[in-house]
Amino acid sequence: MHQPVLATSPTPTDVASLRYSIAGDVYVPGDAGYDEARQAWNLYVDQHPSVIVMPESAIDVVKTVRFARAEGLRVAPQGTGHGASSLESLEGTMLLKTTRMRRVDIYPSSRTARAEAGAEWHEVTIPAAEHGLAALAGSAADVGVVGYTLGGGMGWLARRHGLAADSVTAVEIVTPDGRLVRADADNEPDLLWAVRGGGGQVGIVTAIEFTLYPVRELYAGTLFFPIERSAEVLHAWREWTATVPEEVTSVGRILQFPPIPDLPDFLSGKRFVVVEAAYLGDEFEGAELIRPLRELGPEMDTFAMIPAPALQELHMDPPQPVPGQGDGTFLNELPAAAIDAIVAAAGPESGSSLLSMEIRHCGGAMSAGTAGGAQSKIDAPFMIFGVGLTMNEEMAETVRSNVRVLLNTIAPWRADFDYYNLREMDAEADAVLPADSYRRLREIKARYDAGEMIVSAHPVRPAR
Ligand SMILES: Cc1cc2nc3c(=O)[nH]c(=O)nc-3n(C[C@H](O)[C@H](O)[C@H](O)COP(=O)(O)OP(=O)(O)OC[C@H]3O[C@@H](n4cnc5c(N)ncnc54)[C@H](O)[C@@H]3O)c2cc1C
Repeated sequence: MHQPVLATSPTPTDVASLRYSIAGDVYVPGDAGYDEARQAWNLYVDQHPSVIVMPESAIDVVKTVRFARAEGLRVAPQGTGHGASSLESLEGTMLLKTTRMRRVDIYPSSRTARAEAGAEWHEVTIPAAEHGLAALAGSAADVGVVGYTLGGGMGWLARRHGLAADSVTAVEIVTPDGRLVRADADNEPDLLWAVRGGGGQVGIVTAIEFTLYPVRELYAGTLFFPIERSAEVLHAWREWTATVPEEVTSVGRILQFPPIPDLPDFLSGKRFVVVEAAYLGDEFEGAELIRPLRELGPEMDTFAMIPAPALQELHMDPPQPVPGQGDGTFLNELPAAAIDAIVAAAGPESGSSLLSMEIRHCGGAMSAGTAGGAQSKIDAPFMIFGVGLTMNEEMAETVRSNVRVLLNTIAPWRADFDYYNLREMDAEADAVLPADSYRRLREIKARYDAGEMIVSAHPVRPAR
């Protein structure tokens, strides 16, 4: 029986030999640059790995993984650190930051892209748009392509084109035994299945390839209403979602912005209930589709034709690192009673401190899925997520309590599994994957990483 690799720290001589053998950089506690290198995008997360490696290439990753194996070190791959709050403590662990591996290639003729492990979404969406193509990116431009896609990847085109994980055609991955392999339909199909929505459990992805879609412009925007109208607007949005085609992906949301100067005046210190939507079609049809919501009389209306890369501004995600805590889950259904319960937990009278409570409309192509993967489709019609800013421990405690209240409130409608990417607080893989996926992923983990060398968000334990 395999035992997990023990957490440890390499000797100074061994660190020196790793430094010598790779083009990238190596930091240990006390080194100038260590504190900057250990910082995740989520500033609430305080990571203290025993060694940090910043590889420049896949070859560097191979050498690093072989070094870690020889040293008995566990390895935590990380791109931006947007998902860092889902990780276990990194004490005694190697943090492998892929930030310097940023090459992106767009192949217009095959409508595919290849992105190295450290690429952020804007580095794909902007060059893809030059060819009239769009990727299945998420709401924020600076989220990592690999981490997002490995966890499913639900963006503004999802109801029409599915989860990003379902569009993955190949990955280049360094397995825990230090081999660089290409997993595609013909080679290592189990590895490909595992990374399509099962997270980074089975190796270090060095590059990912995926399908792009012909999209130049969309009709998209936000309707802002005063927070006091939360029940009325969210009920209307819920009913509206049942009427729209899969070309429409939308979010019903309650927002409470703090009074901070980084925000534009029209948002700073303000509270809203909003509907955000993107329609894959023209302005005339789009305006007709959103007419029932527009007739409610929003105080601000930003709907317009926009180029595909501008979708990443629609959700108003913070453009720079912030401290935050959040959690979310899928819903099996969203009856009117669920809206009432959600408004009671996060609406104007709730006392909730959550910056954002959002309900995303799923379904459409998201529930179909064609490629096959650990979570390359979602069989749930809605997803709910609450998040707050956590500048200090007291705020963090309040946010966690507000999120708990929200999730307890929706318990009657909660699906059997949560969303890998937006379940940010402690949860192992069995909480974020459907049961049959979880069982198969355990078998694959046992074949590739029985010693649990890879430290991943939402870890899966190998089958014994
Ligand atoms: C502001 C914001 C907006 C978001 N919007 C969306 C959204 O619209 N839709 C959505 O689905 N999700 C969304 N997310 C969630 C996001 O997709 C996850 O946090 C995701 O894990 C981020 O990936 P990353 O690479 O940026 O983060 P990281 O923290 O760097 O990576 C997260 C995890 O991915 C794995 N991983 C990363 N790189 C590798 C690698 N090279 N090899 C193997 N495993 C790896 C690791 O397990 C790692 O812990 C959002 C998050 C934030 C903070």
